Amino acid sequence: MPTLVTDRFTTLDYNDLSNNHVFLKSYTNGVFDYNNNQHGGLHDHQHDGANNHAHARQLIGNALRERVESIDHEYCEPGDEDTFFVADLGEVYRQHLRWKLNLPRVKPFYAVKCNPDQKLLELLSALGTGFDCASKAEIEQVLKLNVDPSRIIYAQPCKTNSYLRYVKNNGVRQMTFDNTDELRKIARLYPDAELFLRILTDDSSSLCRLSLKFGASLDSTDELLALANELGLNVVGVSFHVGSGASDPAAFLKAVQDAHTVFQQAASHGFSLKTLDVGGGFCSDNTFEQMAGVLRTALDEYFPAHSGINLIAEPGRYYASTAFTIACNVIARRSIEDIAATSYMLYVNDGLYGNFSSIMFDHQHPVAKILRSGGHTVYDTPAADATEDGIEYSIWGPTCDGIDRITESIRFPQLLDVGDWLYFEDMGAYTKCSATTFNGFTNNHDVIYVCSEPGAKALLELQ
Ligand SMILES: *Cc1c(COP(=O)(O)O)cnc(C)c1O
Repeated sequence: MPTLVTDRFTTLDYNDLSNNHVFLKSYTNGVFDYNNNQHGGLHDHQHDGANNHAHARQLIGNALRERVESIDHEYCEPGDEDTFFVADLGEVYRQHLRWKLNLPRVKPFYAVKCNPDQKLLELLSALGTGFDCASKAEIEQVLKLNVDPSRIIYAQPCKTNSYLRYVKNNGVRQMTFDNTDELRKIARLYPDAELFLRILTDDSSSLCRLSLKFGASLDSTDELLALANELGLNVVGVSFHVGSGASDPAAFLKAVQDAHTVFQQAASHGFSLKTLDVGGGFCSDNTFEQMAGVLRTALDEYFPAHSGINLIAEPGRYYASTAFTIACNVIARRSIEDIAATSYMLYVNDGLYGNFSSIMFDHQHPVAKILRSGGHTVYDTPAADATEDGIEYSIWGPTCDGIDRITESIRFPQLLDVGDWLYFEDMGAYTKCSATTFNGFTNNHDVIYVCSEPGAKALLELQ
């Protein structure tokens, strides 16, 4: 099979890609559907796409099976039955190609906070993405990958003094600001920094609103640019974020229009801005093509290629979410006897204080599937799925807190019991990174890596 090694920020020739098993994918009601809409160069890859999908599921399934079948909860050492992840780095690679097909002019700077997994960062580094970091530790982790400091943006509008000194000493120049105090701080500590003015957006339809906390309103940008000019600072661009898990493409259009206004304001203050940063917020489900389509059209209108403006973005969940599957062990069960039917409370060894922190912080609803029950591993078979009828369960985490509930109600035909395993898909974004060790449960879980794309494999073995 031909292996595609993607470019490092040179323009991709998509007709070339069409010879290399590249496909666009979308999800329809949870079923994969490979489409090649709007991209003339991509023809007739449905077959390859389906094969690819099956191959990915097979690798993930094998990794899950091998691990859970090696553990006997009756005899194992404490922690052997702990929750673990399987990460398919091939999925990250496919997401990157999907990005390049849909937003070919926009260079992604992966938002490290979403999932700072080392292998994920290594692959993205090899793919040539940039990185959005918000702390010294994130910047340090990326620099250790031998990423050039010019591929990092310190995208935190309210920075720590000592971190500013750190980035100055390490050559990271790009950073965001959105208020006058921060401008004075930067003027004092790092006057040569390359500054992006972060503007406010309408993030009301996103999962996690960020504009409550960050972003300059359009009636303050003129004053900020005047002060930056007075302080002799180097404003190089505008950035925004439409909110994490954005669902309204119109938010992107409005933000691009506002950014265009600020570019003009900046020119009147003598700044010749060269970069627009469209932030993150992209989901990896089938809303991506629509979002990207609206954004691409807006960019082509307000920041056309001939304008010479660089375009960057800060996607996080888009890259990480679908690549990670988690497996949890059923550690306890409580039967609830009722006249009508017996239902059960299942206690698993991970919860809201752990990798399911995404339920609290990211408003997610992970869906349980059966990985292994009654001595049978049923990953990716109909027997894994919840049903309308059947035995009712609620699923709880291992801590002593009553809020630690993963699922209020779900039904399976099987009678689940202690020692069985559940799995949850799409667990790569805002999960492990915000897990705690509350109540003494570890937040350091194994990740088993598989790679369903030869291209990604080749890149990683180069490392
Ligand atoms: C969190 C964050 C991101 C990533 O957001 P996603 O919704 O995961 O794409 C990007 N930029 C900034 C400044 C952020 O705070």
